[in-house]
Amino acid sequence: MSSPFKPRRKTVTATVGSVKVGSDHPIVVQSMTNTDTADAAGTATQVAALWRAGSQIVRVTVNNDEAAAAIPELMQRLADKGVDVPIVGDFHYNGHLLLRKFPKTAELLAKYRINPGNVGTKHRDDNFRTIVQVAVDNDKPVRIGVNWGSLDQDLLTSMMDENATRAEPLEAKEVYFEAMLESALRSAALAEETGLRHDQILISAKISQVQDLVTVYRRLGARCDYPLHLGLTEAGLGTKGVVATTAALSLILAEGIGDTIRVSLTPRPGGDRTEEVLVAQQILQSLELRSFTPQVTSCPGCGRTTSTFFQKMAEDIQNYLRDQMPVWRESHPGVEEMKVAVMGCVVNGPGESKHANLGISLPGTFEEPKAPVYVDGKLKVTLKGDNIVPEFLEILNDYVARTYPA
Ligand code: SF4
Repeated sequence: MSSPFKPRRKTVTATVGSVKVGSDHPIVVQSMTNTDTADAAGTATQVAALWRAGSQIVRVTVNNDEAAAAIPELMQRLADKGVDVPIVGDFHYNGHLLLRKFPKTAELLAKYRINPGNVGTKHRDDNFRTIVQVAVDNDKPVRIGVNWGSLDQDLLTSMMDENATRAEPLEAKEVYFEAMLESALRSAALAEETGLRHDQILISAKISQVQDLVTVYRRLGARCDYPLHLGLTEAGLGTKGVVATTAALSLILAEGIGDTIRVSLTPRPGGDRTEEVLVAQQILQSLELRSFTPQVTSCPGCGRTTSTFFQKMAEDIQNYLRDQMPVWRESHPGVEEMKVAVMGCVVNGPGESKHANLGISLPGTFEEPKAPVYVDGKLKVTLKGDNIVPEFLEILNDYVARTYPA
């Protein structure tokens, strides 16, 4: 069946450490730490957790001498933990100084992120060129990451002034959009003039409003063939952050635009940073652009599911699948494509179960749980009693071993 989405926008391929980014490769999930990078041990622990959750690239803040000096120790600690993920340095204001002062750090980082609005005001182009020259010397790619909140003010002012002289001036917001694009593309041209290869440049242009982000990426996608990194910046807390990011990224990805994504959620106090990786994976998986884990279709439950047995069963099965994935990924290639239905009653249960590889549905209001199990669309067995979940997991393991052999 053909996809309702537009084909992927054609890009060159950038190489970030061991990861290829571009239209000939799967869309990459990346994330960013929120530890003090100078604390190499704490940062290594968080990078390891993000990597284990599935982040393929991890960005760390490199904001001062202490952070820059800690990168070699961070890399050593990651190697000791067996963590093999490209680490990107996020530079603002002083990247040109830090990368020169700490050559080992420049050598170990897999990519440098430069915000052209934050490379200083006095010697903006010189500072930018200095960072790019270090990238050229070390054969590293850069991401030119423009952000609505830190747009190059000189460029914006000159474009606003120019706009004011037009017979029919554009709306201020339009000028903002164009300034973002101009900042990104002009910086990319300057990077190439400095000696960086065309395929060593990635671009992002992040905004915090969904419709604005779609507008900017549409235009950016049409004007260059650099790989694009997508993200709704400052997406926010909890449900708002997840929903706004999903809406924005889905609209852009459906247009075939986007080669790497990050979900920028404000973590809850003490919250788990890996949530942004899981949300990013789920966006790609829900859009059927990538598969990371077997998908569980479960109904919301309603008045027909009068006990909590159904909710617990759905959660237990979902958790089991997630826990098994690190092992299954190696031993059962293709298992991430599997679909499992966990349904509350016979209204939609058998139908959904038949569309899944494996399905289980409860009969609805009940005293004694009974659950028909469907395998490849056919009723296999009806489970009863207290061991429905473990017995279903046994059937599931058997199915995985038979259907996705090593
Ligand atoms: Fe309710 Fe049954 Fe539909 Fe689930 S499948 S929402 S229990 S009617």
